[in-house]
Amino acid sequence: MNLFRRPAPSLDDLILDAPHELPSESLMPTVARPAQVFVRGQGSWLWDSEDRAYLDFSQGSAANSLGHSPQVLINALADQSQALINPGSGLHNRAQLNLVDRLCQHTGSDQGYLLNSGAEACEAAIKLARKWGQLHRGGAYRIISASTGCHGRSFAAMAASAGAGASRFEPLLPGFSHVPFNDLPALHAAVDAQTVAIMLEPIQSEAGVIPATEHYLKGVERLCRELGILLILDEVQTGIGRCGTLLAEQQYGVRADIVTLGKGLGGGVPLAALLARGKACCFEAGELAGTHHGNALMAAAGVAVLDTVLANGFLQHVRESGLYLGEGLARLAYRYDHGQLRGHGLMWGLTLSDDCADAVVKAALHEGLILNAPQPDCLRFTPALTVSKSNIDEMLVRLARAFARVRTAQLQCRKGIAV
Ligand SMILES: *Cc1c(COP(=O)(O)O)cnc(C)c1O
Repeated sequence: MNLFRRPAPSLDDLILDAPHELPSESLMPTVARPAQVFVRGQGSWLWDSEDRAYLDFSQGSAANSLGHSPQVLINALADQSQALINPGSGLHNRAQLNLVDRLCQHTGSDQGYLLNSGAEACEAAIKLARKWGQLHRGGAYRIISASTGCHGRSFAAMAASAGAGASRFEPLLPGFSHVPFNDLPALHAAVDAQTVAIMLEPIQSEAGVIPATEHYLKGVERLCRELGILLILDEVQTGIGRCGTLLAEQQYGVRADIVTLGKGLGGGVPLAALLARGKACCFEAGELAGTHHGNALMAAAGVAVLDTVLANGFLQHVRESGLYLGEGLARLAYRYDHGQLRGHGLMWGLTLSDDCADAVVKAALHEGLILNAPQPDCLRFTPALTVSKSNIDEMLVRLARAFARVRTAQLQCRKGIAV
């Protein structure tokens, strides 16, 4: 490739090597991906087909809660696949019963149900709320959510999210309205006779890792109790230890009527859950089903993850490494004049001084570090919950190099200097 024939180098040209292999033309280009093909993973490390090692501080968008290929998950999947992969969702299996029992016991829920993805769990939560509205609130069906929230990409989840790209798929599902996050008066003003539930993430992830304030979330819970509507907390990302407690709601001292789980619950395999408490337990036979709901192989993975996360000292480790990561990021942000650090446990967002997050993600990949950017000016860090201090130290070294690389490229771009 002759760079000199190009008119002016873009920021990407200045940051990136030419990709080693061209991606397949058969794959629908619905997600922008780097050219590398990944073949192996262990803990916080990933290797590509050219045997380059990368530190992974995204972990499949926080799905790989125990890191890559942890032994407990390998064993659980191997044992379960030997015994029984899938009797079918119309029949009981032991792993499903086990996981639902344990989830209910440890989250103080009365009923649970297993599904395949976070979006699907959020859809099911919306259905459950509508069902409850028919039974107990005169057919009220409207769900209020945050205007910067994200609950997944299926139609109801997308309608609840009010977010990116949704307008391309209109008409959207009706029955949703949106209010600014962390604004209690706005939420109060939006509730009417047709409102059945308020649906929120305790810490908004896609918006750039924005935690609810304690005042807000406690206020939302109180509002729901006073007005007789349901509180749905989407803990697809914040749940299963990500924030240093099994659920993030515990840290806020709040108790939702309906909770959704996903991502980290499966430790890397597709698994999600819907939990309900008290009066919200109102599904009956025939109202929710799916071919792989409660799939034994996936449920066995969930049991292994949950047992690990609940083992002595594990959540303590998450809280300690979370603080260590937060301190390291704060130091680096200060050194490079970047902005605000937000998060809890091992879920952190760092705002940058300009919209260079995509450039930093690309530069980081070049330095052997996998990150993602939920917003143009925000980086997100969701390492394995098992991440070590030395992993974090090494990540900070690589991130510093990525920041430096982007700074240099930005200066060169500004001066109009070609490579
Ligand atoms: C990722 C995510 C979802 C969607 O989960 P999928 O498994 O991608 O469908 C929903 N809510 C939150 C808070 C998430 O982070």
